[in-house]
Amino acid sequence: MKDVCVVVGAGLAGATAARILAESGERVFVIERLNHIAGHAYDEFDENGMLIHKYGPHIFHTNEKKVFDFVSKFTSWHYYQHRVLSYVDGMLVPFPINRDTINSLFGVNISTSEVEDFLKEEVKNSNFNNPPKNFEDMVISQVGRRLYEKFFKNYTIKQWSRDPKELSADVAKRIPTRSNRDDRYFSDKYQGLPKFGYTKMVERMLEHPKIFLVTNCDYSEIKDEFKAKLTVYTGELDKFFGESIGKLEYRSLDLIFETLEEKQHQQAAVINYPNDYDWTRITEFKIMTGQKSDKTVLCYEYPKDEGEPYYIVMSEENMQKREKYMKEVEKLEKSGEYIFVGRLAEYKYYNMDQVILASMEKISNWLKR
Ligand SMILES: Cc1cc2nc3c(=O)[nH]c(=O)nc-3n(C[C@H](O)[C@H](O)[C@H](O)COP(=O)(O)OP(=O)(O)OC[C@H]3O[C@@H](n4cnc5c(N)ncnc54)[C@H](O)[C@@H]3O)c2cc1C
Repeated sequence: MKDVCVVVGAGLAGATAARILAESGERVFVIERLNHIAGHAYDEFDENGMLIHKYGPHIFHTNEKKVFDFVSKFTSWHYYQHRVLSYVDGMLVPFPINRDTINSLFGVNISTSEVEDFLKEEVKNSNFNNPPKNFEDMVISQVGRRLYEKFFKNYTIKQWSRDPKELSADVAKRIPTRSNRDDRYFSDKYQGLPKFGYTKMVERMLEHPKIFLVTNCDYSEIKDEFKAKLTVYTGELDKFFGESIGKLEYRSLDLIFETLEEKQHQQAAVINYPNDYDWTRITEFKIMTGQKSDKTVLCYEYPKDEGEPYYIVMSEENMQKREKYMKEVEKLEKSGEYIFVGRLAEYKYYNMDQVILASMEKISNWLKR
C-alpha cells in the first residue's frame, strides 16, 4: 500500500481529492463508511421516482469559476435561482429581508433608496449592547429589534436550542439584507442543481481507472493495517484522534419526508417558519430540481441534539478544542503524509463550493511538493 493514496470519505471533499490525485497519476483507494457516496450532498430517487435530498436541501452556488468549471466536467445543470419565503405574522414574505419584506410586514410603501434609512431608524430605536456582545446584539445592530424578533430570535432558538444571547456574535457578522426587490437567496454568479443529481455527479467524479472505491468500510477499523503514501481524511476531526482532547459537539436534524398527490404545494422551494410550529423549514424538492410529476415531496426539518452530525456548534468550548486538534493536524500535514479537508475534518461550516475549493487547493499544493 506504500505507493497508494487513501481517501477517507466519498463526499465532495473526498471525491474532489480522489479525482485530482487520480488525474495526476496516483492510485487512489476511497474508503466510505456508509453504503452510499456523495456524503451530505447525497440524493436519491424515491419509490415514485422523485429526486430527494436525503440530508436536506442542497443548492449549488459559487462565485469561483474554477470550482464551477471543475464540477461541470461531471454534470450538466438545471439552472435554478433559489428563493426562500418566511412565514411571519400570518404572511409569506421574502427572505433575506428586502424592500418587499419591509413593505408587507409594516404596511409601508418605501422605495429602494429609503430602505437603508428605514433600517438605520429601526436600529436607532432598539436597545442592545454596542459594540455587540453576542448573536442577538449583532443582528439588532444591523436590522433593529423588530425584525430580529420576527425573523431571527425564535428561528435561532429552534435551530440551536440556545438563547441567542449565548451564541457568538461572529455567527451573525453580516446579515444579508437587500434594499431592492431582488428576492434570490444567493447572489452568486453560478447557481443551480446537477441535472441528474449530486450522487450521479459524484459517481462520475469517482469513475476513473485509478480510483478504487470501497463502501461500508470504516477507516478506524482498518487504519492500522496499512501505511499509505498519502491519507486524505474527510471524517470527524475528534474521531481521528480518538477524542483525546474531548468530543466536538454537533447539532443534528430529523428530516421527515411527505409525498402529496399534488403538482405543487408551496409558493417557493423553501419556506421558513421562525415563529410557528416545531419545524424550522419545509422544502419542496421539485421546485428546485425542476422535476415534472403529479406528485410532490416535502421535507420538514426538526433540529435536535443527537444523531447524524449536521452543523458544528460554535461555542467557545468547542472552538478551543478545535484549535488544539488543528495543531495536531498541522503537524501531520507537515509530514506530507496526511491532508485533513472538509466540514467534518476541519470542524468548519463550509458550503459545497468551499469544500471543493479547499480540497482542490490542498491537493494541488501536495502535488507541487
Ligand atoms: C441541512 C444542510 C443543508 C445544506 N445545504 C447546502 C446548500 O444548499 N449549499 C451548499 O453549498 N452547501 C450546503 N450544505 C453544506 C454541504 O452539505 C457540505 O459543504 C458538504 O456536503 C460537505 O462535504 P464533505 O465532503 O466535507 O463532508 P461530507 O459530505 O459529510 O462527507 C464526508 C464523508 O466521509 C465519510 N466518513 C466519515 N468518517 C469516515 C470514516 N471513519 N471512514 C470512512 N468514511 C468516513 C462520511 O460517511 C461522509 O460520506 C448543507 C449542509 C446541511 C447540513
